[in-house]
Amino acid sequence: MHDQFSRRSFARLIGAGVAASALPPMALIATGATQRDGGPLRLHFNENPNGPSPSARKALLQLADVAWQYPGDARDRLVSALATLHGVKEESILLGNGSSEILHSAGSTLTSPSKGVLVADPTYEALEQYATAAGAPVSKIPLTDSWAHDIARMTENLRGHAVVYICNPNNPTASTTPKSHVRALIAAAPPDVVVISDEAYAEYVTADDYESVVPLIEKHPNLLVLRTFSKIYGLAGLRIGYAIAQPQLLKRLHARQARNTLNAAGLSAALASLESPGYVEESRARNAKSRDHALAQLQSLGFRTIPSHANFFMVDLGRDIAPVSQTMRSRGVSVGRPFPPLTHYLRVTVGTEAQMETFLSLFEEVIAGS
Ligand code: PLP
Repeated sequence: MHDQFSRRSFARLIGAGVAASALPPMALIATGATQRDGGPLRLHFNENPNGPSPSARKALLQLADVAWQYPGDARDRLVSALATLHGVKEESILLGNGSSEILHSAGSTLTSPSKGVLVADPTYEALEQYATAAGAPVSKIPLTDSWAHDIARMTENLRGHAVVYICNPNNPTASTTPKSHVRALIAAAPPDVVVISDEAYAEYVTADDYESVVPLIEKHPNLLVLRTFSKIYGLAGLRIGYAIAQPQLLKRLHARQARNTLNAAGLSAALASLESPGYVEESRARNAKSRDHALAQLQSLGFRTIPSHANFFMVDLGRDIAPVSQTMRSRGVSVGRPFPPLTHYLRVTVGTEAQMETFLSLFEEVIAGS
């Protein structure tokens, strides 16, 4: 059996939860997450290295006793909490098995072989992959020199597409697109072009020229915002994401979703996470401290880095990253795979401060030896 599912690992996870839930409020994140047995350090999937909040860990522990039951009204309770959080109606929230499930529904439901998707290059590829699988064409517009979506060019090219995808902050660059640009694109999009704003990393951003476009759904029936519990909430393994949009658009996506894809553990942990809002702030602060220290160290070694607004960053190695990332993995640290066309940029997930020290010393060694 893979260790991920072993009883020993589960017991350890639950044990960490008990310890964490007993902590005083100011020490919300004191324990950090447990690394899976023997695996390399996970700096490749943009997870939160601190793991779930204490309240989510407690909810998981309680869930063990009732896991034999279908989720019941847990779905409705989460929808209601999210509607309150975002100041929208409950009908404006659609849950998914991760935001991946919603990207799948959008890629396969909204597109057709004659009307495809318009995306930045590079960006998170899921939508492009699902659209391609549905036989829809994909148009790509390179990011600007400041790593933002090229909104002027994307706006010029909107017509003839079913969907335009804005990933903000963008994966893999961790860069943001200014709020005035995103607003301009949303205002310019014809009613038959759905604008997807993927805000998987929104909670990490503190920049003044960034905003979530959730409040704009009220005026724009063609706007779909995506959020997830996989990133700052530290629940990637539990697969809960959601969309925020006007009900008519959500109904189109929901109609093609499989039934009952949400699991009780994910729903309970997500709901509990919303009950410890301090956790998001503390995760954000910890991430910024760890990230900014690592970036400063890399810059002092002479490397150029892309300014990061999320829990990962890119560093320019000035050459193909593949040999470096392979060597690092073989020596116990997994970093991002190549992201064409940025094949000289290594994407690194921000770990805890201790994990970043491990990363930095191995990185220096591998670079020196190659
Ligand atoms: N969107 C972006 C930009 C991502 O980076 C990811 C995962 O890395 C996802 C969506 C999918 O997240 P999930 O399905 O875990 O919610």
